This record gives sequence, structure tokens and C-alpha cells, in this order.
Amino acid sequence: MRVNVHYMLRSNGTGNFTEEGDQGSGDVSGGPGQVWAEAPVANDAASDGYSFAKGMLWAAIIQSGSNPPMDLPVGNTTPNPPKKIDYVLNGVYFHRDGSQYAYDPVNYNTPPAGTLATTQFNTYGINKGSEVNIFIMAQNDAVPNRFDSRGNEIRGYTFTSGGASGFGYSANNIWLKMGNLWRLHLYQRAHNNGVDQTTAWGAGAMFNHEIGHLLGLYHPYDINQCADTPGVQAGNNLMISGGSQMALTPCQIGIMQNELSTRYQGYATCGCRPVNSFFTLAAKCYTPGQPWLTMDARGTWSDNGTSASYTIQPVDINNQPVPGSTPTTTSCNALGRFDMVAPHVRLRVTLTVSNGCNTHSSTKYVDSECITAPGARTTRPSHYSVYPNPTIEQFTVTTDAAPTALPEVHDAQGILVAVAQTSSSQEGALWRTTYRLVSARPGLYSVAMGKGSARTVVRLVIQ
Ligand SMILES: [Zn+2]
Repeated sequence: MRVNVHYMLRSNGTGNFTEEGDQGSGDVSGGPGQVWAEAPVANDAASDGYSFAKGMLWAAIIQSGSNPPMDLPVGNTTPNPPKKIDYVLNGVYFHRDGSQYAYDPVNYNTPPAGTLATTQFNTYGINKGSEVNIFIMAQNDAVPNRFDSRGNEIRGYTFTSGGASGFGYSANNIWLKMGNLWRLHLYQRAHNNGVDQTTAWGAGAMFNHEIGHLLGLYHPYDINQCADTPGVQAGNNLMISGGSQMALTPCQIGIMQNELSTRYQGYATCGCRPVNSFFTLAAKCYTPGQPWLTMDARGTWSDNGTSASYTIQPVDINNQPVPGSTPTTTSCNALGRFDMVAPHVRLRVTLTVSNGCNTHSSTKYVDSECITAPGARTTRPSHYSVYPNPTIEQFTVTTDAAPTALPEVHDAQGILVAVAQTSSSQEGALWRTTYRLVSARPGLYSVAMGKGSARTVVRLVIQ
């Protein structure tokens, strides 16, 4: 089964794993009745969302590949055949969306935050008919301690009790959610000299449990659908709640395999694990001092010898290779960061992923144009347009505020070129300002305008 992992973050990018680390515990300041009593831990770049997703899927694969004998009922001789369920991590996504970020452990039916709410899946699900989408949710920040329908206390901040939870739902499509893994991870780091050795493993176990639900299994202590399972909330059967149980009975495996071969046939590929190159850009941004672009979902990963490389070719506005340029090919982690080149260029990026099963490539055209000030992660905060485009010599920029400085114009080689303002006028809510290049020559240019600390770039063609 192919799996997409989605991280839900606050709109400002805090509150979960990111493309570049786990952000440390500075953000976890404690909620009502809770205290972050541990020494704070700094951002761990090795604990980025890609690595965590990979670790979680690795754990799920390892545990799905094992089926220990059941330890209940005592003395049982129930066979323990292979489960024959395996996973490929197809993509990792980061969504900065405060309206869908939180996970409410109490009102778990309530959109948008509830476990059962389809909101995140509807908005961000990828390849819904053929791939499993899992949403790594955060927990509501400031909910007071409350009590569920059974009278159990639900803490506002459950990270101290390891309150990760997940729930499978299979009405129309396959998706699941897990709550609070990020805080659990930070809690583990704070307790273990900055290292988290358990959260990804436990998340993999939870993932397998939820896949069990998706493929038709109930908790045997709720509905004992199989005669070969003990109907109690104890033992090592995968479908009881709790720790890292792994055992499945022949009846349970039969139900799951039957679902996979009938209702969920489109989600399964039999035989080896085919990798799939697939990537998008999280943000078309170049940060001064950081000569790379962070790319989102950089191809699939499986544990059987996945290798990957990417080829970068500078192209012109028509996606044709820039004369004199040569493509460069670099090997990379299929889920690793792509090192990029200078800003103000257009690139063709081809990602190729292969393993012992297959080889797959995909191509994306990238403008390394969006510039942000250090620390800013905004993509396109200011809205403006440049016209006519292509133009002969003068071009007009419309902005939603009076321009306070000349735009920065770079040529195709990234060299700053001189620009002069010729006129400016306000029309309704818009300002129209006309500029010209002091020594205009035909070619491809980028026009950068700022708003606050963030800047946006639009390409300009001079004919
Ligand atoms: Zn369950």
C-alpha cells in the first residue's frame, strides 16, 4: 500500500515537524494544568518531517513483516502466518493551515479538528483513490482538562502521558489521523538526552493498528468477529489498544486480504514495492545565505534499497535549455533536501527514484524566484502583476499599496540591472507604476518587489 504523510502546522509554521527539523521544545510551553518541566531541547535538523515519516513507515514495515504467536489465550496453538501487508512511503506534505491544524481529543467528532472529521482529507488528500493518506495532527493548544463519556480525564496537554492516538475511517476512501506525535517526540527528546528512540516505532505500531481498522478489523474486545481471537483487551493481538502489539490471526489476515483484493483493490500492488518519483515545491523561495530550495515530497521511499538522483537543467521561459548550460545530476536521498543553485533562474528538475522493483522519473519546472528575508517563510504575501509581459522596453507594475522603493530587477544570470521609474498613479485601490530598464536588452528578467520583510518575484520578458 502506498502512503502519503501529511503534517498539519499552524499558519505560522509552528506546532509540528517541518521540512527542516522538529523546531525544538521552545514552542511547547505548557497548557492549562500542565508544565513543560523538562530542559528545553533545540531544533533537531535530523528530526525533520521527512525523516520522521520514513522512520514511522520503516517501523510499520518491520512490524508488519512479523507475526509472533498470540500469547492469549494461554496455550493456544493458533497459526501465525505472514500478514502479507507492506508499505511504500509515496509522499510527505506540510500544510501551514491554522484552521485545520489542531486535533481535539474530546470533541473528536467535530470538524475541522476532530478525529472523524474529513476536513483535512478533503482539502489535502493526494491520489485519494489509490493511496493511503495519513494526517499527523497537533493537539489543541489550550483546552482545559476535561472528561470523556466514560469519565476518564483527558488532559489539555497529553504529551506527558504519551497521548498519541489515531483512528481509521473507511467510508469512501482511506485515510487516518494521528494526534500529538510531535509533542510526544519532543517529550522523549527532553527525557533522553535530546534523542527520541521510541516515537516513530510506536507510531508505526499505531499505523498498523489503524490499517487493520481500515481493512475491516474491529477491536476483538468490542466486536469479536473472529473465533480465533480472544475477546479481551489484553495480550499481543494487533487489534487491542495500547502498545506495540503485532499478532494477527489467520481469520484477521483473511479479512484484511479480502478487503485488499475486493473493496480496496485500487490501493494494493502485489509483489515487489514499486517506487514512484513524485515531488512538488513547498515554497518557491530562496533564502539569502541558504542556497537551496526546500522541496516537498521528494519521491517515494521503501526499505529495499531505494536510490534517487535529480538532474537540474537551466531553461528559458519556453522551458528550452539555456544555450551553453549543461544539466547536472546529483544523487540524493529520495526524501532528502535538494540543493539548488542561484536564485532568479528557471530550472527543469527531474527526479529519478529506483529500487529493486522499478525505476520511475518525474519532471518539474521550478522558478527559484521568491525571495524572503532571513527567517521569513512567506511565499507570496504581496500581490502584484507586471505588464505587458513580454514587453518592448517599459513595463508597468500594479500593487495594492504605493511602492516605497524601486523593484529589484535581475537578468537571467542573476545580475542586478539598473531600473528607473517613469510614472506612478493611483487608480482605485491599485497603484500603477511604470518602469524602464536603463539599458534594456532582450532577455529574461526577474522583477522583485517587497512588502514588509517578504518579497515576491515575477518574471519579465523583454523582446
Ligand atoms: Zn483501534
